[in-house]
Amino acid sequence: MATAPSSASPPAAARYEPVIGIEIHVELKTASKMFCSCARDIRDAPPNARTCPVCLALPGSLPVINRRAVELVIATGLAIGARIALVTRWERKNYFYPDLPKGYQISQYALPLAAHGRLAFETSRGEVTVRVARAHLEEDTARLQHATDATGRRVSLVDFDRAGLPLMEIVTEPDLHSAEEARRYAEELRAVLLAVGASDAAMERGEMRVEANVSLRPAGTEGLGTRVEVKNMNSFRAVERAVEHEIERQARALDAGQPLVQETRGWDDARGATYRMRLKEDSDDYRYFAEPDLPPLHTDPAWLERIAADLPELPAARRARYVTSHGLSPYDARVIVAEPAASALFETLLAGGLEPRTAATWTTGEYLRARNAAGGEERPGLDPGWLGPQLVELIRLQAAGRLTAASAKEVFAALAEDGGTTTAVVERLGLSRIADEGAIAALVERVLAEQRQALADLQAGKQQAFGFLLGRVMQASRGQADPALARQALAAAVARTGGSERGGEG
Ligand code: ADP
Ligand code: MG
Ligand code: ZN
Repeated sequence: MATAPSSASPPAAARYEPVIGIEIHVELKTASKMFCSCARDIRDAPPNARTCPVCLALPGSLPVINRRAVELVIATGLAIGARIALVTRWERKNYFYPDLPKGYQISQYALPLAAHGRLAFETSRGEVTVRVARAHLEEDTARLQHATDATGRRVSLVDFDRAGLPLMEIVTEPDLHSAEEARRYAEELRAVLLAVGASDAAMERGEMRVEANVSLRPAGTEGLGTRVEVKNMNSFRAVERAVEHEIERQARALDAGQPLVQETRGWDDARGATYRMRLKEDSDDYRYFAEPDLPPLHTDPAWLERIAADLPELPAARRARYVTSHGLSPYDARVIVAEPAASALFETLLAGGLEPRTAATWTTGEYLRARNAAGGEERPGLDPGWLGPQLVELIRLQAAGRLTAASAKEVFAALAEDGGTTTAVVERLGLSRIADEGAIAALVERVLAEQRQALADLQAGKQQAFGFLLGRVMQASRGQADPALARQALAAAVARTGGSERGGEG
């Protein structure tokens, strides 16, 4: 772990047991918003372009439930073994804030769509299972942006594009006991969300927002201590560091006899510390009441069965299959399964007849590196359906000795960057290894014609001249000539001119 306590005291874990519960908000991957027909994908939209009377809360507008959003919550619930409510209802969660056009958020409180699920995941200390208390559906708020205007005044701008996006909130029981467990839970949940197609869950884009509730209790006791909610973590690493930091901060406070207060703290990734955002009184009074503009929601069993039948292979099952049927290490299996695109590529490589270890090495190495470097940008070159067959061809060329390992990586980089086919890229970059004896002999003749002095030196017995001439032949082939064939061809040509044949060894 990167974060270490500054004092020389024994680690907090020895004196206190951390207790952690996690709330995760996920933007669902629907076509339209939660209660209106505005487009859900707002990535390229200018501020306030994706709005309508419903998501701006103009008087007289009425919400309509997005069926697909409900299905995605049900699918997620089924994937974590949750019970799906047969009837749920919508409630108004009332509070005032400039990012909330209605002055309330439509949410679910008493009757969440899914409840009592569980999720298991691997940690360095073995498998851990967390109970998931609930998964419910609600709408996102608008986005506030703080700026300075032309006259230097500080202003707050509101972008309502995000208002009304479908949001699923998933809440665990306080079952987690370390920063690593918190991170691994979030990673595993993301893998499930991606597999189910519920969300792209890109943390850096705010599509998956993790909040960790952290408290400590004396080791060996069962009660719950005062909890602090930590937010604003936008990577898995940040989740782990923030929880680790918060555990240490609370341990130091308790050691010093300072009582903790229930509060919300933000994570400052650059400083590596949490800071107070607001004190959280126990009873935020949201005055929940039933949403009068929407009827209760009934989920009939036939619908649930259809959604269950459509569930894909889930991450845990897929990892197990990769380990047992394909001989991957548990680590490689986890890395590949964490990204559906990587998984799809791996499967395409297997279908193309590649050996699983080779397929895994390319997938976890070059492919995921290129994908991470692209920063979530969707490029045709990274699309597994297209890249898979090209990569099969590329790996074949390398295995057949037609491309060096370095050239193969260069071709891969070009494929991932711009698309194209392996054949075209190999040709464009001039990388195909020259193993044609006629072509090499022609290069040798050209070099000997140009380097008369070196040839004369060699004929006079200066053996270093052979290495020099061979270097020129390789250079003339732009490094692509098969070195053994080039050496043979040069030795043969020199012999024909009546000079020394030596230099062919080594
Ligand atoms: P709220 O909605 O006000 O944040 P909840 O009771 O729904 O409160 O709890 C939110 C999260 O906090 C849940 O994941 C729960 O498991 C966790 N939690 C509750 N009490 C504690 C505690 N004492 N320590 C750590 N986590 C807690
Ligand atoms: Mg909370
Ligand atoms: Zn709208």
